[in-house]
Amino acid sequence: MKLEIKNLSHTYDVEVIKNINLNLTKYKSIAIIGVSGSGKSTLIRMMSGLEKPSIGEIHVNGMNVFDEEYRKSIGFVFQSHNLFPHLTLKRNISLVLEKTRGFSKEDADKTALKYLELLHLGDQVNKLPKNVSGGQAQRASIARALSINPNIIFLDEPTASLDPILTYEVLTAVEDLKGLGKEFIFVTHVMSFVRDFADYVIFMDKGEIVEQGTPEIMDNPKHESFIEFMKKVK
Ligand code: ADP
Ligand code: MG
Repeated sequence: MKLEIKNLSHTYDVEVIKNINLNLTKYKSIAIIGVSGSGKSTLIRMMSGLEKPSIGEIHVNGMNVFDEEYRKSIGFVFQSHNLFPHLTLKRNISLVLEKTRGFSKEDADKTALKYLELLHLGDQVNKLPKNVSGGQAQRASIARALSINPNIIFLDEPTASLDPILTYEVLTAVEDLKGLGKEFIFVTHVMSFVRDFADYVIFMDKGEIVEQGTPEIMDNPKHESFIEFMKKVK
């Protein structure tokens, strides 16, 4: 994807994103890593157009992130599943397709099933979120994000609320999506997944990009804060 970030700063009570500039042209799967509070979620929300920066601009694949066309071309998966609790996994997806994409009921159902099957949930489609495991619910959220056929999928710590087994299950399902020709921008603390899945890595500290490059940078961190981080997550 083409990712262009110009003079990006963001202030809540204090400045949490500090003049980030980035110009990437050829990567398909970008990981953002760093300790808690370093600004990863704020940055990924801005890249997806969910939040407006105090200063600066972001263009992705030539579109401003606030363009309607861009907003329609992305999917976002949050830390916890945020499915509607009173709807089945299938209805969670088909309703979105009917309401936001104008699908007929029949097409919406067919598409919902297709993506739930892709995420290995074909036998869970009529269950409510509370009656499936956390890993299955999170895979259903991924199926929902995919169902609108986005070009780019954002994931912000999609396994934060899961135990190691379910984390593995969800991340393996994401890895299986490699062949779909989608682009990914994601935040995770699972470094083995970053190594396997990312083709570019951004390390953030205190609102700044401190180091960036292909995943090999993780084997030879240079900046003090990145060295410390890699010691802890290894
Ligand atoms: P990360 O995802 O790396 O943990 P965040 O982007 O969530 O970091 O947060 C960066 C900083 O911004 C933190 O200090 C956090 O407390 C603060 N922050 C995040 N969201 C808000 C908000 N909505 N209002 C005020 N402060 C916030
Ligand atoms: Mg976060």
